[in-house]
Amino acid sequence: MARALLLQGPGRFSWADRPDAHAGVGEVLVRPRWTGLCGTDLHILDGLHPRARFPLALGHELAAIVETGNLAGRVVLVDPLFACGACPSCRRGAPNVCGRGGTIGIDRDGGLGGLLAIREERLHPLPDQVPDHIVPLGEPLAVAIHAVRRVPSVAGATVAVLGAGPVGLLLAHVARRDGARVLIAEVSPSRRAAAAGMGFALLDADRPLEDCRSATGLEGADVVFDAAGSAALGPMLTAFARRGGTLAMVAAHAHPVAFDLADVMFRELSVVGQRAYLPTDVRAAVVMLGEDVAALSPLVTDRLTADDVPAALERLRAGEGLRTVVACPG
Ligand SMILES: [Zn+2]
Ligand SMILES: [Zn+2]
Repeated sequence: MARALLLQGPGRFSWADRPDAHAGVGEVLVRPRWTGLCGTDLHILDGLHPRARFPLALGHELAAIVETGNLAGRVVLVDPLFACGACPSCRRGAPNVCGRGGTIGIDRDGGLGGLLAIREERLHPLPDQVPDHIVPLGEPLAVAIHAVRRVPSVAGATVAVLGAGPVGLLLAHVARRDGARVLIAEVSPSRRAAAAGMGFALLDADRPLEDCRSATGLEGADVVFDAAGSAALGPMLTAFARRGGTLAMVAAHAHPVAFDLADVMFRELSVVGQRAYLPTDVRAAVVMLGEDVAALSPLVTDRLTADDVPAALERLRAGEGLRTVVACPG
């Protein structure tokens, strides 16, 4: 039996004992060790996630110890995506948008639900220098890597990152690594301090658009990453980009937002969506986490137990801290 922390409905957690998972063909058993909490978990908590069904064990940003198979005993980052492997999206190499796929911790039980049965190819061992509790950061790092790969090369480009939460900061890190000049828009003082601590230039908190324009000779940024998901920013998003520039939609908006399509047309902007990551992005994230662990570890600001999950999600809602990781039960 496994102790599981289950979300029973919007805002309602309870503990339960559940039978252990069994590995199917091609699967191995892993014991979740640390899971990160993010805005997706908040959407699920609030009953706003379109796919999540209750009861559900959260936990998609996951470090685990492998119990069976070739990697037994290793600490791994779990690639939480699953896909059908047969649909047109999967066949053209985009399993991240598989209509029959999903994510553990969203579409089925995740790291707070005890042992998991996972296909072995979705387990990624970490270099020794990465502490176990930092491993979950590999998941949002894969999001950032995928996002930067989806836009034209940022080498030598000016990139505006809207939002300095963990994904925004990871995006900024990946873009800077690729040779971009990065400007960050963020209102939260603590997140501005985190961005400044990582050496990023910040746009004026009250007038980010005007500041972005003046920092780019009134042209606008070559690439704009929306990592804020703010409905209020929606109508002005396009104005951050230069003529012919690219808008990259990284944040998940819970509702449709106003967006200036005429500006997209008149100034010939490209709008690029991006969802999660591909297996190659996860492999790249594991390597990068190993290389840059000193720079990225400060993004994990809180280390808690599973009992603290409800309180941790409320702190996340209030914008306190960056990434919280919780020790998984069992
Ligand atoms: Zn997440
Ligand atoms: Zn598919």
